[in-house]
Amino acid sequence: MGKINVGQFAGELGLPVELLLEQLQSAGVSKQKDSDPISEQDKAKLLEHLRSAHGASKGKITVTRRETTAIKKADSSGRARTIQVEVRKKRTIAPMGQQAEAKVAPTAEEKPVAARTKQVLDEQERMAREEEARMAAELAARQAADLEAKQARSKRKAVTEAKPEPVAEEAKPAVVAAAAEAPEGTLHKPALKPGDKVARPSRKSKEAVAKDSPWDEAGHKKRPPSRSLDARAGAGLRTGGSLRAGRHDKHGKHETAQHAFSLPTEPIVQEVTIPETISVAELAQKMSIKAAEIIKTLMKMGSMVTINQVLDQETAMILVEEMGHKAVQAKPDDPDAFLLETAAHADAVLEPRAPVVTVMGHVDHGKTSLLDYIRRTRVASGEAGGITQHIGAYHVETPRGMITFLDTPGHEAFTAMRARGAQATDIVILVVAADDGVMPQTKEAIHHARAANVPLVVAVTKIDKPDANSEKVRQELVTEGVVPEDWGGDSMFVEVSAKTGQGIDSLLEGILLQAEVLELKAAKNTAAKGVVVEARLDKGKGAVATLLVQSGTLKRGDAVLVGSVSGRVRAMLDENGKPVSEAGPSIPVEVQGLSEVPVAGADFIVLADEKKAREIALFRQGKFRDVKLAKQQAAKLENMFEQIGEGEVRTLPLIIKADVQGSIEAIAGSLQKLSTDEVRVSLIHSGVGGITESDVNLALASKAIIIGFNSRADAAARRLAESSGVEIRYYNIIYAMVDEIKAALSGMLAPEKKESIIGMVEVRQVYHISKVGTVAGCYVTEGMVKRGSSVRVLRNSVVIHTGELDSLKRFKDDVKEVKSNFECGLSLRGYNELEVGDMLEVFEIVEVARAL
Ligand code: GDP
Ligand code: MG
Repeated sequence: MGKINVGQFAGELGLPVELLLEQLQSAGVSKQKDSDPISEQDKAKLLEHLRSAHGASKGKITVTRRETTAIKKADSSGRARTIQVEVRKKRTIAPMGQQAEAKVAPTAEEKPVAARTKQVLDEQERMAREEEARMAAELAARQAADLEAKQARSKRKAVTEAKPEPVAEEAKPAVVAAAAEAPEGTLHKPALKPGDKVARPSRKSKEAVAKDSPWDEAGHKKRPPSRSLDARAGAGLRTGGSLRAGRHDKHGKHETAQHAFSLPTEPIVQEVTIPETISVAELAQKMSIKAAEIIKTLMKMGSMVTINQVLDQETAMILVEEMGHKAVQAKPDDPDAFLLETAAHADAVLEPRAPVVTVMGHVDHGKTSLLDYIRRTRVASGEAGGITQHIGAYHVETPRGMITFLDTPGHEAFTAMRARGAQATDIVILVVAADDGVMPQTKEAIHHARAANVPLVVAVTKIDKPDANSEKVRQELVTEGVVPEDWGGDSMFVEVSAKTGQGIDSLLEGILLQAEVLELKAAKNTAAKGVVVEARLDKGKGAVATLLVQSGTLKRGDAVLVGSVSGRVRAMLDENGKPVSEAGPSIPVEVQGLSEVPVAGADFIVLADEKKAREIALFRQGKFRDVKLAKQQAAKLENMFEQIGEGEVRTLPLIIKADVQGSIEAIAGSLQKLSTDEVRVSLIHSGVGGITESDVNLALASKAIIIGFNSRADAAARRLAESSGVEIRYYNIIYAMVDEIKAALSGMLAPEKKESIIGMVEVRQVYHISKVGTVAGCYVTEGMVKRGSSVRVLRNSVVIHTGELDSLKRFKDDVKEVKSNFECGLSLRGYNELEVGDMLEVFEIVEVARAL
């Protein structure tokens, strides 16, 4: 900064010499040629002139600069990464002022101005002053250091515009003064108070900027926010104000970008509270990271998840730790517990509600006809002859009240729903044809209704038929424990005909009477709860479900949780296909808007928000469902005594299926004898034949154990038993069975040997070979058959023989084993009665470690 001449100065400023001479001239500095020396005073004069000639807010240059920086930063997984950051800095500067500042700052003349500035600042910006000063000092220090190197470029720009800026000039002394107060050393370790958070990064960047070009920095001060300050005070105020404004201003611009990656120089370890389940999206939010990061990390951990997937606590905690944060286990909050809360909240007034009725009975006894007749004559159809649609339920109005019918007759559907926990039916209409009497399925229906503790109303149908014998029906029912009222019992008997309509009104009346006894009540003005009667996938409508509202009122637009499916009631139709906007207790409606098809028998509940519904649905779909199912699993003979020991469960519910009626009676007799004051064997259902799906459902609903006495479960029943955990125990000797049950009742059951079924073989051809015996051409349908296996011969799901394999061949060769979907030839030791169609159950006896 020594003595220079006009030419050099012009060169520094990047201006033509003539232009500079002209400006000097008008500033009153007389210079003729480029070799004339130019003093500091001359420069000051020029500045003074330019300042008065132009407004303070003028004289800006906009510079755009790109900067590519490589930043090293640890990502959320703790790995160091290099990020290429391109910063586009756009700033408006007024370098002339800065240039002047730099040159003129040391002059004595400016000092009072600086003092004044400071004073005003002190008064007006008390809160920010210290910060300001520090920053200013820092800036000044930087400027001083970098001035020489940078001024030339800046000056050039400034002079191009030739608009000197007085503000910066005045700022400089202020800055210097501040710098004196706050030594540079303190600048680099600003206190990290929360309030400072905003200021710090901006100061940092200011540092960077200042290093680069102080002029830019100063110029920045004159951006719009400073202008407002300019307007309200003199030059001094402007200086301080603009300084501050500059900072804020910057903060709003590119500064934020720098902020984002300059602040966390080391990974911030967060404490993340993990509830029992959490969705990926939620977890990401909690950790303040992108969901994609979580998905990526989980992928590395070997599991593929989606953003909406719900993670269990364990997984989520491992993930959080893996990502370098601290996972904290939240107190259990099973979303289902939330449902209980919601349910408990419903302390609304209870009002009488209509009974819900299911029709049961033997096949062809007239269930469908009865339902159809009632529906045809009683359902108020929208239009005459309008198409009534089957939605699985309908309700009828009678002079004495409303009745809702579940339109899927039979005990199978009834119990299947019960097995899923739904208790939809209040009253069972037991249909018995007057011309046929009590049949096997009549008995089953009675057992199923009884197991559900649902009262019966007997409809003796086909009373119009000439061979109708109502009296015989009554007698047969009495032996089943269903005693008519007029015989001193508690079951109502009504003779009806679906053909003539005879007795239908009395039947409806009888149902309402029975309902009165039951005192059925439900809240009406609460969020709806109920059960899925039927559900299907409709091509046009999507998932469609018939919901029976059991309490509260279901409204269109409600967010619902239906089993493990969620959604919003988009459209709601009644049984006539007419749109309705709400449905109260005992009213069935068909709804659209569910995410998936729910299962019949699933419960539904209206929740305040769809998100919660979705969350619980996902939770139920997830693996927790299995855990939960496992927990509330069906009864097991081995641990029966544990429950009995608790004093609550004092009965052992059994379902017995046997090959012949005689066996059932013998078994039932022996088991009854086992009952003591403390424990009781309760025979829920017994019957001749194979074990069916309906039996398994009944066992599930009643927490019963199934005993197959020379009787086996069919494929569907076996599958259901396996998936639901219902225990089926097979016996072929009564005393062996009685011993085991006895042991179970006294808590001593130790199944040390268990048989394991390894395969099923179907007999397709039978050859009787003299001297050899019967050889069967077979097909292995499931599992495998091994040489020397034990085999049970099943005919119509009933065991007719138990023995061992004698030989096992493939074509002509003896083989060790034959797997499923292969043919084989075999013979049984000492048994020659095999028939085509027989099934062979192949089993092995396995040693099982005692449970407990
Ligand atoms: P479901 O198997 O129990 O549903 O029995 P259906 O309702 O299908 O009836 C079986 C048969 O009995 C049909 O042929 C009906 O027409 C007939 N049926 C049903 N109810 C009556 C009735 O009250 N009187 C007469 N005469 N026939 C009936
Ligand atoms: Mg039918």
